[in-house]
Amino acid sequence: MLAENIQEVKKNIEEACKKAGRAPEEVQLIAVSKTKPVEMLQEVYDTGIRDFGENYVQELVDKIEVLPQDINWHMIGHLQRNKVKYIVGKVKLIHSVDSFRLAEEISKEAGRKNVQADILVEVNVALEENKFGFTLENAIEEIEKIAKLSNIRIKGLMTSAPFVANPEENRKYFRQLKQLSVDINAKNIDNVYMDILSMGMTNDYIVAVEEGATMVRVGTAIFGARNYNK
Ligand SMILES: *Cc1c(COP(=O)(O)O)cnc(C)c1O
Repeated sequence: MLAENIQEVKKNIEEACKKAGRAPEEVQLIAVSKTKPVEMLQEVYDTGIRDFGENYVQELVDKIEVLPQDINWHMIGHLQRNKVKYIVGKVKLIHSVDSFRLAEEISKEAGRKNVQADILVEVNVALEENKFGFTLENAIEEIEKIAKLSNIRIKGLMTSAPFVANPEENRKYFRQLKQLSVDINAKNIDNVYMDILSMGMTNDYIVAVEEGATMVRVGTAIFGARNYNK
């Protein structure tokens, strides 16, 4: 069943790429597995998926310990500074860098571990009150500051669009994030690469791919609905 879900998502990504004149290889599918048991992750792994997204540090660390070593883990949830030490060096990419102080802590910890930490800068494009992230207005100046930290590499931008009935409503936000990445690229800031645009979830990943997403974070369409009160 999970294999079929993945096939369906991959097919949709391919079709969206075709429509937009993009190569399907440009889009990385991240299976968002928060709250899901390791058996389900293993099943998804067995279909060939190697990139998993998690939101909670403890759950992420527990899963890293028991699942195959060649998984690329993506931290996509809001990250507290006191938890940074548990994941730096273990995850492939932190998508949710939403403050300079968090970036500073990640860089410090990466320095202690003698690694470079790859991060994305989260932008709250739609200015939702309950969401984290920089604004379209202050993102560039914050990125210029973060870029000076010694053990961080800025690889791109991330956003979570609003939960809407019609995904077309989010197209403008995806377009704005893409435009921001183009603007930042044009500035040629040292240590800043705009290779990754992490945008699109179950509800709106097709539109996000049409607008230039290079990573889509899909949970429900692969694993089914989540139950938070188990
Ligand atoms: C949970 C989550 C997702 C996946 O959401 P679905 O709607 O289940 O696909 C993607 N991105 C972030 C940041 C999330 O927290």
